[in-house]
Amino acid sequence: METLLAGYRRFRAARWLEQRQRLEALADQGQSPQALVLACIDSRADPAMIFDTVPGQMLSIRNVANLVPPYAPDVAYHGTSAALEFAVRVLGIPQIVVLGHGLCGGVRVLLEGAPHETRDFVAPWMSLAAEARERALRCERPEERQQCAEQEVIKLSLANLLTFPWIAERVASGALRLHGAWFAIRSGTLLVLQPDGSFSAVP
Ligand SMILES: [Zn+2]
Repeated sequence: METLLAGYRRFRAARWLEQRQRLEALADQGQSPQALVLACIDSRADPAMIFDTVPGQMLSIRNVANLVPPYAPDVAYHGTSAALEFAVRVLGIPQIVVLGHGLCGGVRVLLEGAPHETRDFVAPWMSLAAEARERALRCERPEERQQCAEQEVIKLSLANLLTFPWIAERVASGALRLHGAWFAIRSGTLLVLQPDGSFSAVP
């Protein structure tokens, strides 16, 4: 906690002063962020760092392996779906980016099986991506399977977004756009999903 509080003091001394007017305006007028990024919880793939955003610009949902579950309005507790509903139906967000990343521990569980200590929640959560696993196992080079699975998970999450009727309607009318991207931690480079299903570097 001390390290975090030291960071808070630096924030108050510098960045808060820079952002003060913006934060006051956001407090008075409310937020209207222009993008929702759905990212992994991995501490190395922070969407605010990657997209260099300021407060009020971007919403983020973070979960294990940036997975979107299928639409299932039942009695279970759906944290990711609740955040999607708030972003899309309440805030009218105009674009959603599913952001995957390299060296993803959740995807490793998907490929290699779940260690005992992840059996309560991570393993059943990752089973949502079984289809992405199947596709990644068909990847020709075994050394590329992890990255292939990470990118297949992004595509699966994008497909699952369209199972939410209020997302599908907005995508069909052009009010909402969906994107996929993958971040390489070591090189700090971002690849963006293209209409042909490939991922290519941002020029
Ligand atoms: Zn991850």
